[in-house]
Amino acid sequence: MPTPAKRTFRRWKNLPSRRLALIVSIAVFILLSAGSIWTTYSNYSTQKQHLIHYASQQEINSFKSSQKALRINADVIFTSAINQDDILSLMAKAYHGDAVVRNEVRETLYNRLEPLYRLLKSEYIRQLHFHLPDSSSFLRFHRPAKFGDDLSDVRYSIEQVHKTQKPIFGFEEGRIFNGFRHVYPLHYQGELVGSVEISFSIDAIYHLITHDHNEAHDLLLKKDLIKHKVFENEQSNYAPSEISANYVVDKSVQYHEKRPNSISRKRIHAINEKLHDDFQGVLGQCNVCHLVTNINQTYYLVTFFPLKNTEGQAVGYIVNYINEPGLRIVTENFMKINVVNESLLFIISLLTFFYLRNQIRQKRLLHKMARTDSLTSLPNRNVFKRALNEQMKLSKSKQLPLSLVFFDIDHFKKINDTHGHLMGDKVLKTVARAVEDGLTNKDVFARWGGEEFVILLPETYLEDAEKVAERLRKKLETLDAHDLHITSSFGVTELKHKDTAESLMHRGDNLLYRSKEDGRNRVTVG
Ligand code: GH3
Ligand code: MG
Ligand code: MG
Repeated sequence: MPTPAKRTFRRWKNLPSRRLALIVSIAVFILLSAGSIWTTYSNYSTQKQHLIHYASQQEINSFKSSQKALRINADVIFTSAINQDDILSLMAKAYHGDAVVRNEVRETLYNRLEPLYRLLKSEYIRQLHFHLPDSSSFLRFHRPAKFGDDLSDVRYSIEQVHKTQKPIFGFEEGRIFNGFRHVYPLHYQGELVGSVEISFSIDAIYHLITHDHNEAHDLLLKKDLIKHKVFENEQSNYAPSEISANYVVDKSVQYHEKRPNSISRKRIHAINEKLHDDFQGVLGQCNVCHLVTNINQTYYLVTFFPLKNTEGQAVGYIVNYINEPGLRIVTENFMKINVVNESLLFIISLLTFFYLRNQIRQKRLLHKMARTDSLTSLPNRNVFKRALNEQMKLSKSKQLPLSLVFFDIDHFKKINDTHGHLMGDKVLKTVARAVEDGLTNKDVFARWGGEEFVILLPETYLEDAEKVAERLRKKLETLDAHDLHITSSFGVTELKHKDTAESLMHRGDNLLYRSKEDGRNRVTVG
């Protein structure tokens, strides 16, 4: 029994040369394609990563420096316009006065600073807000009619400034607005008389960032936080975000909309919808997170800057949307390189196919030529000898009978002499086909040389071999060989215990000659 490996090898060996070449070429194509795609893809990912890293690093730096610039701005406003004796004395008066006094002071303060507030508003200031030391609101320039409410619950920064008497800076939500707040304590003659807040919206930050890109931004805040901190009638300042149900966006963020080349709101909605799942995936996974998406072949790099409030709690993200044309270029390059590579590989595989097919065909032809007799297409003497050795081994190891038949066409020389050599060839072919048809698949039938043939009959006893020989003799005798009548002589023998291949062949040959000597057209067994 052949091993599975041998069986597979034989199955492959027997495949038609075209199919074998095709399978090998397809395998070559797949292997080279996988290698090529892997290489170009890793190259593409590196390029993309670099690009994203570079673009987002730029954004991070701009974001940080603009926060610093805002703080300087707030410091200058505070020092030059607010931390002045007349204002501090007004606050002291309010602090120590009753409601009537406070109303008077509020009006005076409002009139005094209203021109400054108007000026600052054009520079994205969001709030100018005075508080008393008990953390109650004293004067909101954006809503002067609303005052006296206690802010200690919602405005950690104010409480903290009153407690430490030192300024605080940072992002903070509020009852009406959120913003980058700068809260300064106000002292008059060594006494804390209140505090003032100068805060900017994130539009101010965006105003400071130098943009070359087609971009936009949003302020994404935790929904729970807004519910908790913002006045109910001010909650309409926030809209649900498509990016996550747990976040809302600040509707007043609109700086980008004034820019001629900014990304439209509609497009931002589409980007957010596409990033919904990815956003859940990156949440909490990175410090500054980046996501990339493409809509109609326009690539967007979306950066999420995490935002912590003055208490150190994570409250949301500043989201920056940039149309990044570089990503499109590297992606298109990646596709182009792949198309070129795949086309070249296809051509290479096609050439491989033709080359292999021819090689296999040639090799098989040579192999066949070395094994077969060119006239009769029967196995030649060498093949027969190999088969004989194999069968002898098998029959000896398994105690199976093995018989040998030699036969030779009688007076064949005459056919050649009378009808020509070509007719002789035709007769040889006809005899070969006739005998072949009279044998089974396991029998080995070969041309021994000239007009002499040999048959190996595995698992056949001498008496059965004689019957086969007799049947063949009769068949040849009655054969219409191109209108010629032929006869042939047979020698039949069986493998004996002490036989070698030579002794068996020799005995068979002798028996054939005995048939010749005894008058031809007969079978001699021995
Ligand atoms: P016998 O009955 O004793 O076998 O007589 P024979 O004439 O058949 O035997 P002999 O050995 O005298 O002649 C064999 C002839 O077979 C001689 C040779 O020309 C011819 N022969 C051998 N091979 C081929 C071949 O391939 N084609 C043709 N046409 N003739 C061949
Ligand atoms: Mg002969
Ligand atoms: Mg002969």
